[in-house]
Amino acid sequence: MTALVTHWINGQSWSGAVERTGDVYDPATGQVTKKVDFASRAVLDEAVTAAKAAFPAWRDASLTKRTQVLFAFREILNANKESVAALITEEHGKVLSDALGEVTRGQEVVEFACGIPHLMKGGFSEGVSSGVDVYSIRQPLGVVGIISPFNFPAMVPMWFFPIAIATGNTVVVKPSEKDPSAIMLIAEMWKQAGLPDGVFNVVHGDKEAVDGLLEHRDVKSISFVGSTPIAQYIYEAGTKNGKRVQALGGAKNHMLVLPDADLDLAADQAINAGFGSAGERCMAISVVLAVDPIGDELVAKIAERMPALRTGDGRRGTDMGPLVTGVHRDKVRSYVDAGEAAGATLVVDGRDIDVDGDAEGFWLLPTLFDQVTTDMTIYTDEIFGPVLSVVRVPSYEAGVQLINDHPYGNGTAIFTNDGGAARRFQNEIEVGMIGINVPIPVPMAYYSFGGWKASLFGDSHAHGTEGVHFFTRGKVVTSRWLDPSHGGINLGFPTQS
Ligand code: NAD
Repeated sequence: MTALVTHWINGQSWSGAVERTGDVYDPATGQVTKKVDFASRAVLDEAVTAAKAAFPAWRDASLTKRTQVLFAFREILNANKESVAALITEEHGKVLSDALGEVTRGQEVVEFACGIPHLMKGGFSEGVSSGVDVYSIRQPLGVVGIISPFNFPAMVPMWFFPIAIATGNTVVVKPSEKDPSAIMLIAEMWKQAGLPDGVFNVVHGDKEAVDGLLEHRDVKSISFVGSTPIAQYIYEAGTKNGKRVQALGGAKNHMLVLPDADLDLAADQAINAGFGSAGERCMAISVVLAVDPIGDELVAKIAERMPALRTGDGRRGTDMGPLVTGVHRDKVRSYVDAGEAAGATLVVDGRDIDVDGDAEGFWLLPTLFDQVTTDMTIYTDEIFGPVLSVVRVPSYEAGVQLINDHPYGNGTAIFTNDGGAARRFQNEIEVGMIGINVPIPVPMAYYSFGGWKASLFGDSHAHGTEGVHFFTRGKVVTSRWLDPSHGGINLGFPTQS
């Protein structure tokens, strides 16, 4: 019998009747290995009810108590990260070392959240008026919803829930239905760490569960990560229903290589950032802008490195795994067909399959296009696969113009040895996260992660101080104590005296 992944509500696996399910694949074999339970509105309601019931006690748990649970969770996660990584590789397909890296980056947010007593400190002004003090405090929102994508089944939810929990909220996570198991192991770890039942809940499913979160009056905020059309939908529906929303969308990340750059470094990094995790990263580089006259040399350097890349089952020590599903692989493949038909130069064709893995796996090998123009769909669209496009540009200015004109603005990188050029780039580029000789500039947990333009809907980026701000509301208290004198009745607007 195929194993079933079901919900986690009020500190335990849900045991109700299953109505609808989805298939979970092992992408390296192409086989369905599990089924995942799709929540109905009634199940979603059960999870929100559990989270709402847990909120008053968790909100009032002392900062010391909350921090103790976070520290315990961090230790358990750290001791078991290989098990989480193995589940990710089984269902997502990314190679084990990459899966382990994802868990580590998520763990960093837990470590950041362990410092919550400091992060929650408000301000205090003594004596703003005679005998009057003013201070500010931040308080949790209540039940918060988190909806995450397939490409980071552990790290992306961890961008949000450690901070949401640390600040006193209770959580309902709706992970991707494509790789639902890692979050279940994490739910068990929270229980082991001593988190009270109902503070952390997981509901699996599709649009029905998502719409349930968007429409539920007891859900106060939505943190979403996924493709741009869905992010826009989430932002519009969530805000219309009065919720605070941060919705992180898709990407098309450009790497600008100036003629003075170290071209070997640039070629290595284009490979790492273009084909790592089979290009299924929102911070993947998918466009290399080669500034004249280095185009031929840079393309040759990238191409000569590609035959050494081993694509295959991520459990076998390969460099790149399969794509997440057959449907997604076919979509990415259709972009390669379209690029070729549009006249781009296909330097390395990833459709010629030679892998260390099962023939039925969802394979597509690293692909390199040169002479790509900005009207081609391989340039305009987010492909989310191992397809790297080189666009030749005549100057630094022309490269910057292309990046700024592109609708997405998640990440970008410049490769140069000219500090002045790098400084100018960081100033004038319209993108949220910038690398200087660094291709995947994912900020550390104590900074905030987020793009510009069509890569983010809402005001707040993820984690860092913006994360703390997102999951809390401010209050300002004005107080007067023990001064028996008063000025009598005065209907004027209060001012300092
Ligand atoms: P997706 O948009 O298909 O799914 C994301 C979530 O939305 C999933 O939980 C899914 O179940 C749900 N969903 C899907 N269709 C829906 C619908 N019609 N109505 C309501 N909910 C729906 O994204 P994905 O394919 O899982 O992930 C890849 C995408 O995520 C890429 O576009 C990638 O760039 C983006 N991403 C962005 C970031 C970032 O930080 N900006 C990070 C990771 C991934």
